[in-house]
Amino acid sequence: MPAELIVIDGPAGAGKSTVARRIADLFGAALLDTGAIYRSLAWLARGRGVAWEDEAGLAAIAAELRIEFQPPAEPGTRQRVLILSPLEAPERGPIDVTGLIRSPEISEGASRVSQHAAVRGALLDIQRAIAATSVAAGRGCVAEGRDMGTVVFPDAAHKFFLTATRDARASRRHKELTASGELAASGEAPSRSEVETEMARRDQRDSSRETAPLQQAKDAALIDSSELDIDAVVARIVAAVRGPGQTTA
Ligand code: C5P
Repeated sequence: MPAELIVIDGPAGAGKSTVARRIADLFGAALLDTGAIYRSLAWLARGRGVAWEDEAGLAAIAAELRIEFQPPAEPGTRQRVLILSPLEAPERGPIDVTGLIRSPEISEGASRVSQHAAVRGALLDIQRAIAATSVAAGRGCVAEGRDMGTVVFPDAAHKFFLTATRDARASRRHKELTASGELAASGEAPSRSEVETEMARRDQRDSSRETAPLQQAKDAALIDSSELDIDAVVARIVAAVRGPGQTTA
């Protein structure tokens, strides 16, 4: 496969992260998990006492944010996310936030900080630089998020919008959280209905914000994963990227 940019957008729980990781592995491409960038910003802001509503304060942190993605600790798991040289403790070196940014509290924080236009603007360069480096190195890049095809990479070679019914997405997310042993803010394991309520809130916020709302790009292929397993979704994307007549690995 040529070193191109493949983008996958869609709501939480549609299977984007797993699918993007599998596609990146298959093509030997870099994986740009843009949700992890918003999550890292929310995590840093909380540590500094900057409110998730404080647009200017958040944009200042976003402007200095340096993130690096590294191969996962175990094959098939999430790649590692490192925040490099935060101002408050440069001597600490990179902070591995891979697990820290996955809590329900930080999911909520990421959804809130991502509403602000100044924050989204400040994070454009970091996203584009990571993708450009991988493409220039001949690796290609799979970028996943909410506004990849519409705003951040409007000229991407391949665009997909992955969705599923809210019911299917909430079930998946609940299973994922239960498997990882993550706890809700209450300290209890989140229930299926809590997960669905939280997801509905994030969906509403992501779709209705003024800047770069969650939206299918006009030239993105729509894939509904409600009735498809991960293998089937991956197969569709691989077939579309390779083009007609290219069926072998
Ligand atoms: O994809 P993930 O659940 O990790 O994203 C966390 C939050 O970050 C989302 O709920 C969304 O509000 C925000 N986000 C965004 N734009 C992106 C990626 C994530 O607004 N490109």
